[in-house]
Amino acid sequence: MRPVDKGIAPKQYTNYQQSRSDLAKRIGWYCSYCEMPVKNMIEVEHVVPIKNGGKKLDWNNFLLSCRYCNSVKLDKNISRKGYFLPDTDNTFLVFSYSQAKIIEPNNQLTSAKMAIAQNTIDLMGLDRYPGAINEPTDKDTRWRSKDEAWGKAQRALERWKKLPNPLMLEQIVDTAKGTGHFSIWMEVFKDEIVVKQAFIKEFTGTAKDCFVNGNPISRRGGNL
Ligand SMILES: [Zn+2]
Repeated sequence: MRPVDKGIAPKQYTNYQQSRSDLAKRIGWYCSYCEMPVKNMIEVEHVVPIKNGGKKLDWNNFLLSCRYCNSVKLDKNISRKGYFLPDTDNTFLVFSYSQAKIIEPNNQLTSAKMAIAQNTIDLMGLDRYPGAINEPTDKDTRWRSKDEAWGKAQRALERWKKLPNPLMLEQIVDTAKGTGHFSIWMEVFKDEIVVKQAFIKEFTGTAKDCFVNGNPISRRGGNL
């Protein structure tokens, strides 16, 4: 899950829906949880649900979400406690991505933190994949989007190995931004520091203080 930096509130809103464009300008048109690109109908998501006391008009309580993550999350969480969230933690350190299982808690974490990572996965149903323990519904196309990103990233890596030049890098970054799923691109290009640094720089709103030389580090003020 890509760690994001929204910056300070651009203004005070009278309706939370008004924040959509400002959020997208700051952190890109991607679901903050599953990282799917959402070019239409992206939803402003209250991290702490209004029903559970979350502030309705507070920039600090907003993220962007696809309809699938939002509709699984609903008002299940009573607070931020017990979850790793992309605006406060380096969530790139929390999960590992693989083609077989797609997303799971990073096994380098302590067992307590792995449990929090799993809670976060469960909150949005991020591990729903055909053939996995949790099957997606017919409508839930998040897994297709991830599959597409895996395929494109792997083909891009092959091309990069044959032709590692600045033009190829530009093309790869363009493709990655259009396809979304920052974490998958970072995983596939894990041995290519130059490319990872370009992803961190070019995916709008990635929390740059979460990485050094393309590698993730703990986030200041985070729970890791
Ligand atoms: Zn999503």
